[in-house]
Amino acid sequence: MTHNQSRDIAIIGGGIGGLTAALAFARQDANVTVYEQAPALTEVGAGLQITPNGARALNALGIDNDLNATGVTAQAVVPMDAVRSREITRFDLSTQNPPYRFYHRAALIDILARGCEAAGVKFKLGARISGLNPDGSFDIGDAVVRPDLTIGADGLHSVVRGVINKPTEPFFTGQVAWRAMIKTDKSDPVARIWMAPGRHMVTYPLSGGRLNIVAVQERSGWAAEGWNHADDPGNLRMAFADCGWEVKSILGEVETANLWGLFRHPVAEKWHSGSVAILGDAAHPTLPFLAQGANLAIEDAYTLARCCNADASLAAALQTYQDTRRARVIKAVEAANKNARNYHLSGVQRRIAHAGLKTMGKVAPAAFLNRLSWLYDHDVTR
Ligand SMILES: Cc1cc2nc3c(=O)[nH]c(=O)nc-3n(C[C@H](O)[C@H](O)[C@H](O)COP(=O)(O)OP(=O)(O)OC[C@H]3O[C@@H](n4cnc5c(N)ncnc54)[C@H](O)[C@@H]3O)c2cc1C
Repeated sequence: MTHNQSRDIAIIGGGIGGLTAALAFARQDANVTVYEQAPALTEVGAGLQITPNGARALNALGIDNDLNATGVTAQAVVPMDAVRSREITRFDLSTQNPPYRFYHRAALIDILARGCEAAGVKFKLGARISGLNPDGSFDIGDAVVRPDLTIGADGLHSVVRGVINKPTEPFFTGQVAWRAMIKTDKSDPVARIWMAPGRHMVTYPLSGGRLNIVAVQERSGWAAEGWNHADDPGNLRMAFADCGWEVKSILGEVETANLWGLFRHPVAEKWHSGSVAILGDAAHPTLPFLAQGANLAIEDAYTLARCCNADASLAAALQTYQDTRRARVIKAVEAANKNARNYHLSGVQRRIAHAGLKTMGKVAPAAFLNRLSWLYDHDVTR
């Protein structure tokens, strides 16, 4: 069945979710146009972990050769005692199929954009959409665009979410995050989670000899929500000043850093209305503690195209899309919220947690991945 054939699909937002949706619909012969506010398809200079559940959907869209050539294949996740500079244990990731990989965001966007262009997707860049009409149409300059389906893939501050949902207030989690990148030729292909009381840092290598850093600290005051607020790297070093030599040596190399506040947003009640649907961060902004925001956006995008292709009625297809996705997404969002607390323990709780991890690594190393099998083994292409 190919109900998407010749449907006109407008996608607002050319991030990872929007481009995945564009490629998925274009592969089913829809006429797809992406409206992106930025003058070029770009991404912030940061890394992204694509776990097997996200990789399955991307591979099914026919970009697997480029993905295989670009990512760094993860061998393990390694919890670290950041204060003592000690490896607590190591959980194997090398058996994951498809592989768990680390990408530079810009590289992933580039792969998706090239796939979209080859599949006939049109792009309107520098096109900020400021609202939708009740029928899902929207204005671009003097023209009105009236697609069969308008998809809001417009991220954290989604305009489209607000059109189909009541406003909700995000709340500050009491945590701020820095992102930074340094040059390194020494890093092995593992994700390290450096845990300290009230703080943690995640590092992993990217192609081209770079190390991606995300560092999180508990704070009562907050920085703005968003990705691009520059901060003095000295503040980042200061926040981890009592940590061991390895953390200090990594942070000593940081030349530029960005800081922002971490907020929790409720998952949207409605993911569709009439001929409008939302996906990715527009529907469910997710804290970065499970590395799932982009993976979930990819799963959403694939599922949305698949549901629409399987049903002549868009209304029925969009309801199936929401029913298929919402419970899984809520579970992932809650799991990410919980990780934030687990990384930041102090005192006796910290000692017990580290001892538990160590024992698990020795006695039942598979238990780590077994606990995440609901997440990583999920296959939206089946
Ligand atoms: C520190 C950190 C680390 C992370 N690490 C990971 C990770 O390892 N793995 C993972 O899966 N996720 C990770 N995430 C989450 C992930 O980055 C996001 O969930 C993901 O980028 C969401 O994709 P999206 O396409 O929904 O939104 P976005 O990537 O935000 O894209 C939205 C796009 O819409 C455009 N846009 C917005 N408004 C408009 C408008 N009105 N008109 C036109 N265009 C518009 C924007 O310019 C943008 O291009 C991390 C997040 C953070 C903060």
